[in-house]
Amino acid sequence: MQRHKSASMSDYANEIPAELHSAYEERPFQSCTRCGEALAAMESGYQIFKLFEGGEVIYEYAVCQPCHTGVMDQFSEHSRARMAGYHSQRVTLNLGPHLCAVCGNERGEDGEPQYALSAACEGTSLRQSLMFCGGCLQEMQALLSPETRRTWQRFVDENLPGVPPEAISPAGLVTV
Ligand SMILES: [Zn+2]
Ligand SMILES: [Zn+2]
Repeated sequence: MQRHKSASMSDYANEIPAELHSAYEERPFQSCTRCGEALAAMESGYQIFKLFEGGEVIYEYAVCQPCHTGVMDQFSEHSRARMAGYHSQRVTLNLGPHLCAVCGNERGEDGEPQYALSAACEGTSLRQSLMFCGGCLQEMQALLSPETRRTWQRFVDENLPGVPPEAISPAGLVTV
């Protein structure tokens, strides 16, 4: 069953909301956290991920699509298939930034202080954003094989300084 809706042209006119700006820089993300390239110039777009706890941003990053594809390519076939299956079967697009894309709960409704926002952007436009509640984020961690988790840990250690790898799951990203 495929519940994904394709993006309409009007989605491309959406401005990136302040909540998806860099809290650290207090402005929209300017460059890829990994390679430093200017994001607005990236024709293939980029991904933003922000983890919140009690309304405060605890981790955030933005990676350009080539860097994102680069790390995903290192994942095992099995883990990639599981993540793709999870996204197509469990994730509902277009629920907005306040409802979990997996379970439909509101932020904090499950008693978990953490939640994440993930978004796919192009230039200064938002293509798609998803909210994941704390409980569903934990469930997504379990999708990865130990080997893929190690690959992800290496990527986070090398490219996202200060971020504990277990705080962020690559499954909690928008698939494009
Ligand atoms: Zn990059
Ligand atoms: Zn949820």
